[in-house]
Amino acid sequence: MIFEYAPAPESREVVDIRPSYGLFINGEFVDGSGTPFKTVNPASEETLAEVATATEADVDRAVQAARKAFGVWSALPGSERAKYLFRIARIIQERARELAVLESLDNGKPIKESRDVDLPLVAAHFFYYAGWADKLQYAGYGTTPLGVAGQVIPWNFPLLMLAWKIAPALACGNTVVLKPAETTPLTALLFAEICQQADLPPGVVNIVTGAGDTGAAVVGHPDVDKVAFTGSTEVGRLIARAVAGTTKKVTLELGGKAANIVFDDAAIDQAVEGIVTGIFFNQGHVCCAGSRLLVQESVAEELLSSLKRRLSTLRLGDPLDKNTDIGAINSAAQLAKIRELSEAGEAEGASRWSPACALPEKGFWFPPTVFTGVSQSHRIAREEIFGPVLSVLTFRTPAEAVEKANNTPYGLSAGVWTEKASRMLWMANRLRAGVVWSNTFNKFDPTSPFGGYKESGYGREGGRHGLEAYLKEIS
Ligand code: NAP
Ligand code: MG
Repeated sequence: MIFEYAPAPESREVVDIRPSYGLFINGEFVDGSGTPFKTVNPASEETLAEVATATEADVDRAVQAARKAFGVWSALPGSERAKYLFRIARIIQERARELAVLESLDNGKPIKESRDVDLPLVAAHFFYYAGWADKLQYAGYGTTPLGVAGQVIPWNFPLLMLAWKIAPALACGNTVVLKPAETTPLTALLFAEICQQADLPPGVVNIVTGAGDTGAAVVGHPDVDKVAFTGSTEVGRLIARAVAGTTKKVTLELGGKAANIVFDDAAIDQAVEGIVTGIFFNQGHVCCAGSRLLVQESVAEELLSSLKRRLSTLRLGDPLDKNTDIGAINSAAQLAKIRELSEAGEAEGASRWSPACALPEKGFWFPPTVFTGVSQSHRIAREEIFGPVLSVLTFRTPAEAVEKANNTPYGLSAGVWTEKASRMLWMANRLRAGVVWSNTFNKFDPTSPFGGYKESGYGREGGRHGLEAYLKEIS
């Protein structure tokens, strides 16, 4: 039975969106030299604001400001840097509702997720790395910061990816120039205001908005000591090429094609919830999304019918409605990619299923979709879809599950559902993935390192390991 709910929209009045935004350089908002661009609400296609484009010359100004600030910031005792980070974390908590509404407006993700997942994790990241700032000597990676970090992030978790980048960099004594994604710049710009509110010394954090060219200017700037990138494997390759032969330290967090593996002894109802979280959380715009379901043949039928029943209860629509489970696809371009790959799935012979689901007329939407009869060679089984689309494959033995799960150029994450701890350990030791979740999926915590194998990138973010990327190696 499908329940009807009265609309329960979160108020957008809690956030003041300015008609236009400049770049945040040296503690102030300044004009950009490029042609400004518009950022839209993907759920309505309404323009939210006009945002400045940073040219190479603007990026240079930002790097110079960061370089100057590095002298001051890196000379502060860790305990003093910690005070700023704690202050930022507390302001994020105080302004969480405003940030969550802005994130949902600019990105299209359900308010339930921005409010209950993204924002608590953003604050937790700043609290966690604030705690490390005066304890670096115990982390085992030295205590010397690198200098200026150039950081480029994607649109799927705009503020959370900013937190993953900025919190450890600052805790270690680096200063940063960060470029948010073109479609989701607004929470980064609100974060810039929070830096002002926290009295962070000017130049410690600089935010330069723009498209790929601005990102390339950040990465390619000769006075940047560290490059941190999260995004597609394709752009990751370009960046690896751009920094090859320089002394820049690099971390790359790239794409994924995770297997979510369900054994016949698993608690099926829990596994169904984990599959839903794995691929339909954030419309599947998750690098570690469980986009390949590997289910043991003996329970495949039972599991699929439960899954379909559960998917029929998901509510798709207004991201600001507190009842919404599935929000909007972030952009027309991403929607086109999801459609193209889904059509390829059908053309290659897989069966496509979606629950009855009315899509709003305006905005960018894609219904939750399940492909069965998928084989390893299908594009939907190999390529990252980055949308609410699940490919289902079956297996008979644990060895076959491992073989299929690892048969991908990626290696970011995996999920295993079984009652037996011995089988869980056996699987975890064989899966080539940076994170293996045990009877759960898409669980994040700032204390836990995250990162990939193979084409999913290198370096780890989060936890003690996350400090290594921002400190000089001990020689
Ligand atoms: P993307 O196209 O690679 O863009 C990522 C960022 O790089 C954006 O800010 C983008 O700017 C910028 N950029 C584009 N071309 C550039 C260039 N030549 N040099 C420097 N920067 C450049 O990725 P996306 O489509 O936004 O994000 C989705 C991808 O991110 C997926 O593959 C996903 O798996 C991956 N991801 C990985 C992780 C992880 O931790 N491993 C986490 C989240 C997402 P514009 O926005 O203006 O194009
Ligand atoms: Mg937008």
